Amino acid sequence: MNESRVLATPAVQGALGVFGGTFDPLHIAHLRLAIEAREALLLTSVVFVPAGNPPLREAPQASPQQRLAMVARVLAGVSGFALDATEVVTRSPSYTVTTLERLRAQHGAARPLVLLMGADAFARLPAWHRWQELLHLAHIGVATRPGQPAALLPATALARQSDNTITTDAEKKPQMLGADDTVDRVEVHLADVLTERFGRPADISSAPAGRIVPFTITPLAISATMIRQRLAQGLSVRHLVPDTVLDYIETHSIY
Ligand code: ATP
Repeated sequence: MNESRVLATPAVQGALGVFGGTFDPLHIAHLRLAIEAREALLLTSVVFVPAGNPPLREAPQASPQQRLAMVARVLAGVSGFALDATEVVTRSPSYTVTTLERLRAQHGAARPLVLLMGADAFARLPAWHRWQELLHLAHIGVATRPGQPAALLPATALARQSDNTITTDAEKKPQMLGADDTVDRVEVHLADVLTERFGRPADISSAPAGRIVPFTITPLAISATMIRQRLAQGLSVRHLVPDTVLDYIETHSIY
């Protein structure tokens, strides 16, 4: 074999999962989502991106540095998972589109990027800054979440995961919502407007961006809100959060 030819072949990098969240605090459903996304969507690795200053919600209870520290402690030394501290360190509003632009520049035009989120977050997508641009930068992997209506993960999309006949154009832009769309109509639109974008896990490797890929994860009716509430009531959250997170919360008297 001609070794120089082998060395000249560009390294093929697998799909990278990008998992943003407030992580106030990180809990086991976050971790299961990342693990099961990696398996279901055949991701090489998943990078966690704690939001520094999330614009669409009340200020988190834990400071950005504390939320970052909790995620860092859990991910330390775990292969297949990485931490991106940029949103916390820069302290500007945490816009996912900005993060994806940065990661796209870092990883090159060809590498598939998959923005990971739960079905509740996907349902609110039209409220995100420059949301129509997200699919030009990455695929979106949408995990099932208990209590979240399945309407936004259309049966057609889930069925397509076993249907080999999809031929939609991955480069086609999603239609935009009209300026007069009311909040009530947004959910209906999101499913309708983006239906042509739904695809299967196998579609991820064939384009760097552009598909919405629903996937099913172990249903865990856990939220950070519920964990904060339990802590505020003096109730145990052991095994709802990793032990390292619980130690950190107790040591620093957060929540
Ligand atoms: P909060 O209760 O404070 O809103 P959260 O538990 O929803 O927090 P976030 O940090 O806001 O956690 O979520 C980060 C991402 O993880 C979001 O995309 C969210 O949909 C997803 N996620 C969180 N919990 C679950 C769960 N139990 N099942 C599926 N996805 C989840």
